[in-house]
Amino acid sequence: MQEGCVFCKISSGEEWGAIVWDDGERLVFMDRFPVTVGHTLVAPKSHRDDVLEMTEEEVGRLFSLAARVARAIKRSLNPAGINLLQNNGAAAGQVIFHAHVHVIPRYQSQTDNPTRAFGKNRLRVSERELLETASVIRDAMREARTL
Ligand SMILES: [Zn+2]
Repeated sequence: MQEGCVFCKISSGEEWGAIVWDDGERLVFMDRFPVTVGHTLVAPKSHRDDVLEMTEEEVGRLFSLAARVARAIKRSLNPAGINLLQNNGAAAGQVIFHAHVHVIPRYQSQTDNPTRAFGKNRLRVSERELLETASVIRDAMREARTL
């Protein structure tokens, strides 16, 4: 755990997070300021600044889980498309310096411009709404486990 790291605090339960999935190695939780409804993050539970500090196997497992989350989001929220995005370093747009993969559903019906990866305005979503979406995605992940 790294001092002052918000994702380490969510991982340890010290800080609130809408947790979707926790397998002891990787944590899936809702972005507190989502680009779209269902915007989910997949992160290693132990602190790594970025994927350059992870082994290839760890990165593979991180993205494997991100793919399962994407499939669960497709199944449960039925977006038109889904971004998997991952930033390393401030110059690449990283804001929280604990490695994570963004899974961002894209809905054609929303005022959502996918050519801007993160958009201009993040949504304001209540903790209750985040927990509800987390629950919907978690249920779909359980169903999709055997795929
Ligand atoms: Zn951390």
